[in-house]
Amino acid sequence: MAGPRAPANSVEERAFRDLCAAFARREIAPRWQQADRERLFPREFYQAAARAGLVGVALPAAVGGADLGATEEAILLEEASKANPNLAVALLVQEVAGGLLAEFGQGEQLDLARANIAGDCLLAIAVTEPEAGNDVQNLRTHARRDGADWVLSGMKSFITLGAEADVLVLLAQTEPGAGRRGMRFFAVDRRSAGLRATRIETQVNRPAPTYRIVLDEVRVPGRRMMEAGFGEIMAGFNRERIMVAARWLGHMQTALGWAVEYARTRTAFGRPIGANQSIAFQLAQAHADVEAVRHLTYHAARRWDSGLPLGEVILDVSTAKLLATQAVVRVTQTALHVGGGWGLTEELPAMRYALDALVAPVTVGSWEIQLRAIARQMGLPCD
Ligand SMILES: Cc1cc2nc3c(=O)[nH]c(=O)nc-3n(C[C@H](O)[C@H](O)[C@H](O)COP(=O)(O)OP(=O)(O)OC[C@H]3O[C@@H](n4cnc5c(N)ncnc54)[C@H](O)[C@@H]3O)c2cc1C
Repeated sequence: MAGPRAPANSVEERAFRDLCAAFARREIAPRWQQADRERLFPREFYQAAARAGLVGVALPAAVGGADLGATEEAILLEEASKANPNLAVALLVQEVAGGLLAEFGQGEQLDLARANIAGDCLLAIAVTEPEAGNDVQNLRTHARRDGADWVLSGMKSFITLGAEADVLVLLAQTEPGAGRRGMRFFAVDRRSAGLRATRIETQVNRPAPTYRIVLDEVRVPGRRMMEAGFGEIMAGFNRERIMVAARWLGHMQTALGWAVEYARTRTAFGRPIGANQSIAFQLAQAHADVEAVRHLTYHAARRWDSGLPLGEVILDVSTAKLLATQAVVRVTQTALHVGGGWGLTEELPAMRYALDALVAPVTVGSWEIQLRAIARQMGLPCD
């Protein structure tokens, strides 16, 4: 999908990072705390991202995208997540859902991708179901043909921005009994008759809430069925995992930066707590975690952008995703611990950092799913 690549750390790449960092300072930093407290997604944030050219970063120019690659998606997620990983995740969702529409869509589906990039059509990606989390092929939502339309029934769960989005890019079973081969994505209007979204309250992702979506005989025009299904989302999950690793890379840096400053200025027993090796070494270890994740994430992104077949990048992607999601839990726990009793209050950000990180091991393929992918790539007969 990507156009010609700028070399690593080139002027172009640094300029893109500066653009993302300035956007994060301007549009995320002043906005996230209220969004977090109220658990409300600020739609104007998505529109501001579109105006800044930061929606559809890796989508083709033919639909208005920036035609960049996984590396730039990672830079966007890292810089945005430094300000707040939860508003940043809304950008990740747009890249994934918009990518499916742009890559596998036609006609009206491409118009939706264009509208998404222009800031006029917020998207959600709806795959997970109550009985199909990591086990996507077990999904039950089904679509039956009725004249020129499809009629969808079933339930989706944990859909980020499921009630705020204008369109859900939603996976359903179209051929009963055909398993993973009989699945297709549909671009479903969120305001369709028969579609109901109810909030699932979590302690994570609060500014980008998650929803249970009930589909009761929802009628979708045939032209909204996409030529993409299980295989395409599995490949898409790999690109998404690079963005997920970058998201936690950004978050780790913020948590660590805060903890270092706290350890330098908070005194106990007449000296800064960071003068104790036991504290300083935990922070030094966290620095090592950040740097390891940085190298793994951008190594995976550059390998992806070099156009290698998927089978040759899965090992890099799963390794980066696994390490990032493990490290962010360690680093944010360290920050929480350095904060002592005050770290547990809402007067300091340490608890928020740690709570936000708790979703890292779970989504877009859990730790176990990444370990299984790595083991298989190592040639182990791991089922
Ligand atoms: C905040 C949040 C936002 C989300 N946003 C979206 C979204 O926008 N769109 C969407 O479609 N989904 C979304 N999800 C869903 C998310 O991807 C799923 O929660 C995830 O896939 C886990 O599903 P589950 O809870 O059913 O876990 P399960 O699949 O039931 O897993 C439970 C546990 O069992 C382990 N396990 C499962 N299978 C195996 C195995 N074969 N070997 C070893 N261990 C195994 C898992 O690692 C995990 O620890 C979101 C989830 C959350 C929490």
